[in-house]
Amino acid sequence: MSTGILVLVEHLKGTMADITFEMLGVGRKVAAAQGGQVHAVLLGKNVAALATRLGAADSVLLADEPSLEQSSAEVIVPLLQQLMAQKQASLVLLGGTNASFGLGVQLSARMKVPFVNFCKGARVEGGSLVLTSQLFSGKILSDVKLADGKGIVSIYPGAFPAEAGRSDKTPPVEKVAVPPGSPKVVFKRYIEPDTSDVDITKQSVLVAVGRGIQNADNISLAEDLAKTLGGAVCASRPVIDQGWLPLSRQVGKSGMSVAPKLYLALGISGAPEHCEGMKGAQLIVAINTDPKAPIFDVAHYGANADCLEIIELLKEAVEKKKTK
Ligand SMILES: Cc1cc2nc3c(=O)[nH]c(=O)nc-3n(C[C@H](O)[C@H](O)[C@H](O)COP(=O)(O)OP(=O)(O)OC[C@H]3O[C@@H](n4cnc5c(N)ncnc54)[C@H](O)[C@@H]3O)c2cc1C
Repeated sequence: MSTGILVLVEHLKGTMADITFEMLGVGRKVAAAQGGQVHAVLLGKNVAALATRLGAADSVLLADEPSLEQSSAEVIVPLLQQLMAQKQASLVLLGGTNASFGLGVQLSARMKVPFVNFCKGARVEGGSLVLTSQLFSGKILSDVKLADGKGIVSIYPGAFPAEAGRSDKTPPVEKVAVPPGSPKVVFKRYIEPDTSDVDITKQSVLVAVGRGIQNADNISLAEDLAKTLGGAVCASRPVIDQGWLPLSRQVGKSGMSVAPKLYLALGISGAPEHCEGMKGAQLIVAINTDPKAPIFDVAHYGANADCLEIIELLKEAVEKKKTK
């Protein structure tokens, strides 16, 4: 029964974020099952050229103005509200990211339609859209049916294939006007994050240390092992909170999401907030003294052992293998 589907495009400094393609893929899937048009909403300053990458949409609704550089919810929400009415949109897809944080609840309140957060699945059943929402950091998955198919949906990054939302087609572009107003929040400048440290999201091997590493001095043991394996060290939150490693190394809900080929978890219990950031690793190996530690539920291989005894042995074994 769906009519229009709006997808709020995410981009930063001329680069399209993958979440945009994930959302377009979801939009296409819903439109294929229920009918309707998918409109990509592209907002920003000097962003018109990005429209060519949005071929999976039936049209691009473009607002390209200096005032839209890093615009806030104050500006975006009324614009989306206006576009929902213009395009008779029953569904709005937003990224479940920091960039779109706070938009969903405000739009939902203004439009008096439900807001589904942390959406990790979408299917059409008997003509109705069923969304799977993640609750309690992944402990519960809840299926939600939207009354009348209307709602605002925040898509969990990485949950849907980005490929489904890529296309070489050139979509028609329609310029849209921003509702007048003087926003109280204005963008002043973009502060680049400190890039002097290792980018753990780009490593194919990560040696992750948790509270079980015991003290700051033992971090160097993990660093030596990581070096031997050709990777880097990352950590759970308590290790970062203690100041044993910089924040750029934190994995999890309030840190980075990583997907290396190998994730070696040393003395990490496997709390949901940690696992949220590393579940996507191809191979997870855990070493923990507690045989009931939840990390063993997500690990492909596990050793019930003292990591401090294992680290050195493991390093020697890898070195030996390398010299053969
Ligand atoms: C809103 C919120 C956001 C959060 N964000 C994050 C986040 O981004 N990242 C994150 O990691 N956490 C996060 N947390 C914290 C999270 O809930 C856990 O407290 C944290 O992940 C636990 O870290 P840990 O596994 O290192 O420590 P612990 O839970 O204390 O576990 C230590 C583990 O080490 C084992 N151990 C002890 N000694 C040894 C040894 N010698 N050899 C082997 N094993 C040993 C123990 O059996 C235990 O399983 C967040 C929490 C909240 C509420």
